[in-house]
Amino acid sequence: MSLALDFTSPAPASAADRVTLFADVILPLPLPRLYTYRVPYELNDNVVIGGRVIVQFGAKKTLSCIVAAVHEQAPKDYQAKYILEFIDDAPVVTQPQLKLFRWMADYYMCTLGEVINAALPSALKLSSESRIQLHPAFSREENEYPLTAQEEQILDALGTLEESKALTFTEVGELLGVASFHKVIKSLMHKEAIFLFEHTADKYSPKVLKKVRLAHHFVNEASLEMLFNTLTSKPKQLDVLMKYLQRVPVYQNEHANHAGMEKAALTSSPHLSPSAVNTLIKNGVLEQFDQIVSRFPLEDEPTAQLHFTLSEAQTAARDEILNHFGEKDIVLLHGVTGAGKTEIYIDLIRKALEGGGQVLYLLPEIALTAQIVTRLLRVFGSRLGVYHSKFSDNERVEVWNGVLSGRFQVVIGVRSAVFLPFDDLSLIIVDEEHESSYKQYDPAPRYNAREVALMMGNFQGAKTLLGSATPAVETYYQAQQGRYGLVSLTKRFGEAGMPEIELIDTRKQREAKTMHNHFSAELLGEIERKLGAKEQVILFQNRRGYAPVVACQDCGWIPKCTNCAVSLSYHKHSHELRCHYCGYHDPMVSKCPCCGSRAVKTVGFGTEKIEDDLKIMLPQANVQRMDLDTTRAKNAYQQIIGDFEKQNTNVLVGTQMVTKGLDFANVSLVGIINADSIIHYPDFRAHERAYQMFVQVSGRAGRKGKKGKVLIQTADPQQVIFDKVIRNDYLEFYNYEIMQRREHGYPPFMRVIKMTVKHMEQGLCEQAAIFLTQELVERLGRTAVLGPEAPYIFRIRNFFIQEITIKLDRAHTVLKHAKQQILDAIDACKDQKEFKQARFVADVDPM
Ligand code: ADP
Ligand code: ZN
Ligand code: ZN
Repeated sequence: MSLALDFTSPAPASAADRVTLFADVILPLPLPRLYTYRVPYELNDNVVIGGRVIVQFGAKKTLSCIVAAVHEQAPKDYQAKYILEFIDDAPVVTQPQLKLFRWMADYYMCTLGEVINAALPSALKLSSESRIQLHPAFSREENEYPLTAQEEQILDALGTLEESKALTFTEVGELLGVASFHKVIKSLMHKEAIFLFEHTADKYSPKVLKKVRLAHHFVNEASLEMLFNTLTSKPKQLDVLMKYLQRVPVYQNEHANHAGMEKAALTSSPHLSPSAVNTLIKNGVLEQFDQIVSRFPLEDEPTAQLHFTLSEAQTAARDEILNHFGEKDIVLLHGVTGAGKTEIYIDLIRKALEGGGQVLYLLPEIALTAQIVTRLLRVFGSRLGVYHSKFSDNERVEVWNGVLSGRFQVVIGVRSAVFLPFDDLSLIIVDEEHESSYKQYDPAPRYNAREVALMMGNFQGAKTLLGSATPAVETYYQAQQGRYGLVSLTKRFGEAGMPEIELIDTRKQREAKTMHNHFSAELLGEIERKLGAKEQVILFQNRRGYAPVVACQDCGWIPKCTNCAVSLSYHKHSHELRCHYCGYHDPMVSKCPCCGSRAVKTVGFGTEKIEDDLKIMLPQANVQRMDLDTTRAKNAYQQIIGDFEKQNTNVLVGTQMVTKGLDFANVSLVGIINADSIIHYPDFRAHERAYQMFVQVSGRAGRKGKKGKVLIQTADPQQVIFDKVIRNDYLEFYNYEIMQRREHGYPPFMRVIKMTVKHMEQGLCEQAAIFLTQELVERLGRTAVLGPEAPYIFRIRNFFIQEITIKLDRAHTVLKHAKQQILDAIDACKDQKEFKQARFVADVDPM
């Protein structure tokens, strides 16, 4: 019997009744089922579904898990252990979330534990291996919260630590002499006195702002006057001081000087001398200090004049969307690049908030959030939460709790934002819905955030708006079938026209010897012209590093990764050979290790080489690169995008990061250095992906008034895809593509599940794949199963790989049944002794 407890009503049995309660908990581990623990009598009233409890799992380990259900049924096959501690008085995972997580586990064929593990920020997952450190901004003197004796004890211990400055949970337990201390830790976290981390790498480093203020002995009229007198002979220093006093009302407000002002505001002011600022600091007139800034500063409330008024076309599109929402839950907004979709989203978000619900705005990539967050903050101020993968764990917890508490009514985030604890969504926006970065490849759950968003909308009664200039074929099909509403915007916002696209035949140019490295004379000439006109340029190359391959000219030796079946890429900046699949790296060689020849040359080219060549050919240009290598640091995106926005850089070279959604007013030229490497890809989506990439990158040109130009370099200009890109004809592309899909039985007509078999030994990998194929054929029929086959890169991180493709009818019941069959087939393989070391992975709706 299950007691459906809800959060508001007290537990039905009080301790006095001596009812024995059991809780089914979700451990954040890939376990096939939930485990049942016993609730201690005296804590019967404390059970919260969706709250965390601490349990023992295995011999030594304790960890936190989520209570999924409470009942009176003892487990049949094992003796239930007691729950050790209850951490939360209110759920950290809401009911709608639990429902969604269950759906994800079923649909994506993984365990609920895997979903929870991916969903919860690590700082919400406590285990005996967690550690705590003092919050760098915490000061006991200024602390306004009362501290309990236990809390004081922990802070004392942390305060006296010298080197590691961290305590493990085990040490905390020993210190307090009790087993149940997790609530104390939670309370200290809440008071922002400590931080929690799991791995040393996650240790928190605060965001520090360099500030200056007037040394306090000058903060009275007499001394200030004396100071002015001494500085009359030093006009530059006087200017700085004047500026400071202008900005900081030292007399009106005594706190103002204490808070000071940002040093950068003085040093970067065009009218002031940075060295004068430093002299004043050196002489003790100004005092320099660090301020730790909040991760989510409360913005000033939005200023009204920053609202755009929608154009006629935008207003019409918005009204059409709202009309569709009257009948349909899902609408596709198909609007060309630069149509002004973002402003329509903002308008719809504002309306949704007026209605009182929550809003989730999904973006495929963080590179994009930097720009759009600024736009949204102006409108939504402190109601806006931001969630992305460059955030530290503690920042994620802050957003998580902000959603729970209602502080953040709008959240903008990347795919993992679908895990946040919403319970009252009224609108979900999936921007650039076609993007493959919405799909998580590894580890489980291998979900597509667009599909999860649609399901979440369905569960919570929210409306979902999908937006794109190049909708996924599957999405457009649903719209054509009338399942989604369809709204189109065919013109750019304002005066901007669509860019003019030209092809450059690199084969001809090579024959005519007019190529300079990888630049055709036309592309180079056009870049120079644009720079001359003070306009900006984006160059797209689909590969990072300097060169994908290095080869000995004499014996043909090519350095390969020791763990993967790929050649190593040369990275000039670090002078290393790197594997892009496992991260393996070696120093670059100057001599062939095989034959001793010094003729070791790079073959092919990546973004680093494009950047390098361009700097040599156009020394006057300021070139920046944006790819995985230049954006590892937390704020690198913002930096690069900010520099380009402010026109400190003229040319931005990058991988697909530069193709997506970015909005720069002054870009009038986009160059695609090598289109051919994008088109030739062994996959049924290759054509679609190439089309989307070309249209999207082209879409960065000429977005505000100025006519944009796109130059595409290719060795084969005859390929059909170019024609569609040049004419910007989505429907023609779609009609051709959907025909292909129908003919060959691919989505949206069929569902695809990709099975991957991995093993360290090649022979066993192949055998296991053959065995699995047979098991699958037996259950699903010959025609549903394709393969096994080794992929192009057949070994990654020391595992050999075999793939099997399963195609299934779309009907829900068929699919559900088939998935069970697939799980059974996997179990049959795992039962074979010889395949003990093999891994079997199912990927539903692979991309
Ligand atoms: P999309 O997302 O469709 O590619 P954006 O929303 O980025 O297009 O809009 C393109 C440009 O037009 C942006 O710079 C945006 O600020 C501007 N814009 C869009 N709508 C308006 C409006 N109503 N008023 C002023 N500027 C607008
Ligand atoms: Zn050699
Ligand atoms: Zn490798």
